Amino acid sequence: MININDKHSQIIVDIIKEYARKQSLFILAYGTGCGSIEIPPTMTSKYDAERYGIRGAATPRQADVLLITGYLATKTLKRVIRAYEQMQSPKYVIGFGSCTINGGMYWDSYNTINVLDKYLPVDVYINGCMPRPEAVLAGFDKLKELIQAGKAEGWKHYQENLDWYRENQKKVIVNWQMPDYNW
Ligand code: SF4
Repeated sequence: MININDKHSQIIVDIIKEYARKQSLFILAYGTGCGSIEIPPTMTSKYDAERYGIRGAATPRQADVLLITGYLATKTLKRVIRAYEQMQSPKYVIGFGSCTINGGMYWDSYNTINVLDKYLPVDVYINGCMPRPEAVLAGFDKLKELIQAGKAEGWKHYQENLDWYRENQKKVIVNWQMPDYNW
């Protein structure tokens, strides 16, 4: 019998919980950039991501993974942050495409951000311009590995370093006027 106050039992419970979590990933796919065109083939019959437990969520509150599909306009950033903050923890962020890593071809654009990690805690990056569905699925595999190992902890990093993230976010977003982060 499992006694959850016992240290070893707690470890077993955590392994089971992480296993269940990684097998059921509901994604909020915010189609921010051109890379989002690779999401339909990833989700539909040819690649059929749902057989790996990956499927779309209707609202941020039902989602586990925020998928940022490429470049992110400074105007859109505010909505993306709001969506992320409405998601329940534990929650994960995947940066999809070169634009999320270093700005890609928009690296010196006046109206896109070029390092997503400065504004949201990215757990996994998928490089490429644009990444094919195989790369997207490999990215999800990596996220699953991190979840199982208890290392997909960007959401904790966000809570612990909220001041740093806010400072960066407010440098870009002119009219902040956002509700406080509701933990
Ligand atoms: S990485 Fe390439 S495909 Fe993706 S948003 Fe940027 S320019 Fe578009």
